[in-house]
Amino acid sequence: RERNCGGDHSRILVFVRLRPMAKREREAGSRCCVRIANRRDVYLTEFGNENDYLRLKRLRGRHFAFDASFPDTATQHEVYSATTAELVEAVLQGRNGSVFCYGATGAGKTYTMLGTVENPGVMVLAIKDLFTKIRQRSCDGNHVVHLSYLEVYNETVRDLLSPGRPLVLREDKQGIVAAGLTQYRAYSTDEVMALLFQGNQNRTTEPTRANETSSRSHAILQVMVEYRVKDAAMNVINRVCKLSLIDLAGSERALATDQRTLRSLEGANINRSLLALSSCINALVEGKRHIPYRNSKLTQLLKDSLGGSCNTVMIANISPSNLSFGETQNTLHWADRAKQI
Ligand code: ADP
Ligand code: MG
Repeated sequence: RERNCGGDHSRILVFVRLRPMAKREREAGSRCCVRIANRRDVYLTEFGNENDYLRLKRLRGRHFAFDASFPDTATQHEVYSATTAELVEAVLQGRNGSVFCYGATGAGKTYTMLGTVENPGVMVLAIKDLFTKIRQRSCDGNHVVHLSYLEVYNETVRDLLSPGRPLVLREDKQGIVAAGLTQYRAYSTDEVMALLFQGNQNRTTEPTRANETSSRSHAILQVMVEYRVKDAAMNVINRVCKLSLIDLAGSERALATDQRTLRSLEGANINRSLLALSSCINALVEGKRHIPYRNSKLTQLLKDSLGGSCNTVMIANISPSNLSFGETQNTLHWADRAKQI
């Protein structure tokens, strides 16, 4: 059995998506502090004391550039095509991939990943596209698609397709697996869409806000595609490739771009999995040989989908409102750093 037979070149593509101003933000008198130009450049402006001329001049037009930046008018399809479509194709060619959405709570992560019934997001569009590509490739039923949808909350792993007791992570010859996790055999997009919305309902909610998904919950959709190919010696072998689509917990206060911040945050017990992900990305950025995957449940689960010979995509979600300036700046700094891998 062959797994993830891609080359060993690793690269992270980094995208930014700006969401539209929300009604409540407009009503609170907020101003737009982000401008996107040329589908690539992001300009961030801080509105401080406007009499402070020098300060304003210094801060005006802080500039970032990403692989692509999506303005608030970008459609779900545009975002999917530019960020994830190639990863779906790559999975059919033998290369694992992962797509992460990160950013502060309310920045648009779940909208981007799951979306709504009217405007389905990356998870749904990826599966739809996968089925289309499989149909184009073969009529012999060679490809089999399985889905798992799970949550990491407070270092506990739960099955979102079959809620119940926490799952235990085990290491076997296939890598790290969550014992007993549902692997749902998928046949069509419509059926999958209902399943994903239902699964999202099963995410942990904050006790004080019963209907709102906890900002500390990570949701991971794993799409496993199994198919037969001929190897170099013309033997027929089974290949299993995996695409992981991840709606991360809110990144407020938890994104560290250097080791010192990272350590002080670790002391504060913020979100172990998010910090561990930062650490792994930092280690990958610095070209370290040892990547500390073992530090959290999230990074253990993603061990075979991050770095190495995998395609990785980061989508940084940001709000346009100056009320979220600090979080937006943080998110952009971190995205800028991830770009260097
Ligand atoms: P997060 O998951 O990052 O906490 P959400 O995805 O729940 O944030 O987005 C917060 C709100 O903004 C939701 O009501 C969502 O529908 C809306 N929203 C986010 N992004 C967009 C977008 N690109 N277009 C329209 N509405 C959006
Ligand atoms: Mg969300």
